[in-house]
Amino acid sequence: MKKSALHPLVAEVGKANKKLFRTIYKAIERYSKIVVFRHIKPDFDAFGSQMGLYTFLKDNFPEKEVHFVGDNHPTFTPRLFPTSETLPNEWFKGGDFLAIICDVGDDERIADPRYRHARYKIKIDHHPCKKEIAKRASFLDTEAAAASELVADLLLNYPGKVLSQEAARYLYIGIVGDSGRFLFSSTSPHTFAVSEALIATGFDLHETYLAMYEKNIDSLHSLGYVLSHFKVTEHGVAYYLLPKEVQEELHITPILGKEHVNAFSNIAGINAWCSITEDPQPKDYCWRISIRSKRADISEVARKWRGGGHAQASGARIESLDDLESFLGDLDSLFA
Ligand code: AMP
Repeated sequence: MKKSALHPLVAEVGKANKKLFRTIYKAIERYSKIVVFRHIKPDFDAFGSQMGLYTFLKDNFPEKEVHFVGDNHPTFTPRLFPTSETLPNEWFKGGDFLAIICDVGDDERIADPRYRHARYKIKIDHHPCKKEIAKRASFLDTEAAAASELVADLLLNYPGKVLSQEAARYLYIGIVGDSGRFLFSSTSPHTFAVSEALIATGFDLHETYLAMYEKNIDSLHSLGYVLSHFKVTEHGVAYYLLPKEVQEELHITPILGKEHVNAFSNIAGINAWCSITEDPQPKDYCWRISIRSKRADISEVARKWRGGGHAQASGARIESLDDLESFLGDLDSLFA
């Protein structure tokens, strides 16, 4: 099938990154073994960027051994994305493989630390990062709405290769997820240009949205809990706490704690909002926080509280509820 002409905004990115893209294409062609990585506690964009790229590699390089790894999600896998592969440690020994890391830049957030063994690393991401993990081949644009948007740029510009419906659908899910269905301020004309190219492959848009946003009855109960227990600080920071016992009662795990955080997104007088979820698994913190804001840049507060992220969507952590007042104070003072 003849490839249709690239949208000028997509072609422009290819032109601006010509040297980098060529370096990445060459690395892909050089390695016969490739593993695609994503971030821990994956969301639509982590899965979408990883699985879009993985599918593209399988489609276009059937002779290569390609894998994807990372922790699963309680409701997305295997319904929306396939369950992760489990590769034994021996597989990584010797490092004769290419690691492509999607939607994450900080070492400690990469879902499988064995990426470190790779002889060559490529990173495709839209998060500000503390230390570059792929010095020779990092495609980083913190203005992009989603890492999937960047993966799509790379793949749509790949000479002579085809983006299948399945790969395009994964990337589209990532873009829709991280742009909040094209609502967040990171959404640009380029986001729409890429999305148009993805939709043009012909996957079923309606079925895709149904699959993405399907909820179960437990989810309704947890929304009910959130709506009847949230609090609002003096200057309009809404928040809710989900201690372990409540999660058990609601039949949810920590990864679902942020599921309803955007219930507060369009409320007059609420400037920022967060879910504060007890997460007993990690060794060095106890509560993970998802922060969102209408306009203000909350990423600095997130960084102060052992996290990071984007201007209007960030994550942070506190060790115990002793820090809650101080954390909320920092956020609240943005609006004083
Ligand atoms: P979340 O609240 O987990 O959906 O995260 C919101 C955004 O902040 C996502 O883009 C995350 O990748 C990013 N983020 C969350 N936690 C951290 C962290 N500890 N460090 C850096 N970025 C984070």
